[in-house]
Amino acid sequence: MKNPYQLVEAEIIDIEKETPNIATFVLRPKEKLSFQTGQFMEVAIPGYGEAPFTPSSNPKDTEKMEFTIMDVGRVTKLMHQMKVGDNLGVRGPYGLGYPLEEFKNKELLIVGGGVGLAPLRSLLYSLFNEPSLYKKIDLRYGAKTSKDIIYRGELMGWIKDGKCFVTTTVDTGDELWTGNVGLVTTILENIGIDLGNGSAIVCGPPVMM
Ligand SMILES: Cc1cc2nc3c(=O)[nH]c(=O)nc-3n(C[C@H](O)[C@H](O)[C@H](O)COP(=O)(O)OP(=O)(O)OC[C@H]3O[C@@H](n4cnc5c(N)ncnc54)[C@H](O)[C@@H]3O)c2cc1C
Repeated sequence: MKNPYQLVEAEIIDIEKETPNIATFVLRPKEKLSFQTGQFMEVAIPGYGEAPFTPSSNPKDTEKMEFTIMDVGRVTKLMHQMKVGDNLGVRGPYGLGYPLEEFKNKELLIVGGGVGLAPLRSLLYSLFNEPSLYKKIDLRYGAKTSKDIIYRGELMGWIKDGKCFVTTTVDTGDELWTGNVGLVTTILENIGIDLGNGSAIVCGPPVMM
């Protein structure tokens, strides 16, 4: 087994700009690296610094690993200046990951705020690998404005008839936004989840959780 404390070099093969300060970096590790959904990795700029991030990609895709990173400080700012073809270091995985076994045959409420949708995307991909194992998946996602919504090209594609539902809200509306306006908690009313046979998975800023 690979030593999880040793850095593996990983080439940036694509960068998807999600919002003005969030981008998804697609990395191709030069050695095999695997993770379970919900586990995190340390992503390093060798000689400069590193920070923890939870992969936002499907754990089944072992050829590449995606990280959706918000530019908030020293390390993430430099990451956002990097280009396709540059290399980062990745080590891990760490942590326990989401308890997928416990989710089987349950109705799942998934609540994300801002860049907190990143680990939840990896969770959704994992659930979609075997959708028949879960009774219902209901995603409620909130972003500050319509410009701050991440994965906008795929969000609606996650809706699956009678199985997976997606509701999005923004804190502040604008002329482009026709959906709900209000904090993510405002779209938590009337959740059709069987609380006796359900689980909630939440990731977002502390104030939201
Ligand atoms: C398990 C885990 C998973 C995570 N997954 C993700 C993910 O998928 N995507 C993601 O975007 N983030 C994720 N994060 C958060 C991410 O690790 C941090 O955003 C990152 O470490 C910031 O590093 P930085 O060097 O860029 O920022 P820093 O320079 O360390 O700054 C971080 C924040 O601290 C403030 N700050 C810095 N120095 C000071 C100071 N002296 N006094 C007061 N405030 C200060 C900054 O203003 C900034 O808001 C995760 C964190 C954890 C623990």
